[in-house]
Amino acid sequence: GATIGILGGGQLGRMLSVAAARLGFITHIFEPGANPPAGHVADRVTTAAYDDLAALTTFAHSVDVITYEFENIPTAALDTLEALRPIHPNRRALATSQDRLTEKEFLRSLGLNTAPFAPVDTAKDLQAALATTGTPAILKTRRFGYDGKGQARIMSPADAPQAISDMAGAPALLEGFVDFTHEVSVIAARGRQGDIACFDPGENVHKDGILATTTVPARLTNAQATDAVLLAARILNELDYVGVMGVELFVTPLGLIVNEIAPRVHNSGHWTQQGCAVDQFEQHIRAIAGWPLGDGKRHCDVTMENLIGNDMDRLPEIAKEGNAAIHLYGKSETKPGRKMGHVNRITTS
Ligand code: ATP
Ligand code: MG
Ligand code: MG
Repeated sequence: GATIGILGGGQLGRMLSVAAARLGFITHIFEPGANPPAGHVADRVTTAAYDDLAALTTFAHSVDVITYEFENIPTAALDTLEALRPIHPNRRALATSQDRLTEKEFLRSLGLNTAPFAPVDTAKDLQAALATTGTPAILKTRRFGYDGKGQARIMSPADAPQAISDMAGAPALLEGFVDFTHEVSVIAARGRQGDIACFDPGENVHKDGILATTTVPARLTNAQATDAVLLAARILNELDYVGVMGVELFVTPLGLIVNEIAPRVHNSGHWTQQGCAVDQFEQHIRAIAGWPLGDGKRHCDVTMENLIGNDMDRLPEIAKEGNAAIHLYGKSETKPGRKMGHVNRITTS
C-alpha cells in the first residue's frame, strides 16, 4: 500500500496512524522526541531533529504523501520536504496559523470577526496597544503557544510590566478580552477536489487554559450553527486547504468571533470517534489520500472528557462505566497538565 508520512508523534499522530492503518496505508512518523506515543502503533519511526535535513530527505523519499499533527515545523525543514513530496495541508495554511498576527490578519481579510488585536514587541508598543483594546486584555506570544501557555492577562494597566516580562522578549500580540457566553469549535475537512464536510460544532470547556470537555450538540441557534459551518468552509476554501482543520469560536450575543484555527486534527474533534461513522482521523487520512470524504453526520450526543495528569487515578472507575469509550495515548509518565487520554461518553438515551 501507499505510505503516509506524519510529522509529529504525539497522540494526534498516534490516532492518525491507527486510522491510516485501518484504510490499508503504511505510516512513517518523523519525531524529534524519544519514545513518542505514535511510535507504538506506526509502522516506522524516524527519530531525528528538524534541522537534520539528511534525515528529512530520507524520510520524504520513503513516503508518498506528507502530513503533520502540529504546526511548528521550521521553514527549512518544509523547504526540504516540499521539494520531494506533496504536503497536506499546504504551506500557506501552516504559515498562516503559525503566527497569531498573520492568522488574525488573514481572518480579518475574509471579513470574519476577531478580538481587537495589535502586535506588541516592547513596553511602549503595549501602552499604545492597550489604548486600542482597553482592559481586560490578553497578551499572547505570537508563536508556539498552546494550552494557554505564553499568555498573560492584563486586568488593568498596572499589570502591563509583568505581562511584558512574561513574554521573555518574544514577539507578542495583544488581544482585547472577548465577553463570550461559551466557546465552540468546528472541525471541518476539505478534499483534494475541493469538496467540504463539516462535523457538528462542539461546545468546549477549558480548565486552567487546557481543554477539559467537548460536548455535542453545542448550545447554538440554527442560525449560529449554520454561520459556524459556513465561516469554516470559507477559511478552508480561501487556503485551498486539504485535510482536517479545527476552528475555535467564541459565541457572543453579537455573533461568532473566531479565536484561532489549527491546521490539523483537533482535540475538540475527538468526540467524532464515537459520534460519527467516519471520525476526524479517518477523514483527514481520506482527504490527504484523495479519497471521498465521510459526510460528517452525527449519530448520537457525545461528551468528550480529556484525562489530564492525575485524572488517570479515576481510570478504574471510568473503566466500569458501560458507555464510556476510553482512548489512552500510551504515555509512560503522568505529569500535571499532560494529556494522557480521553473518554467519549454517549449521552443519547
Ligand atoms: P490551544 O491549546 O487551544 O491551542 P492556545 O494556547 O493557543 O490554546 P487560545 O485558544 O488563544 O490559546 O486561548 C486559550 C483560551 O483562553 C481560550 O479558549 C479562551 O478560553 C481564552 N481566551 C483566549 N483569548 C481570549 C480573548 N481574546 N478573550 C477572552 N478569552 C480568551
Ligand atoms: Mg492554539
Ligand atoms: Mg485555542
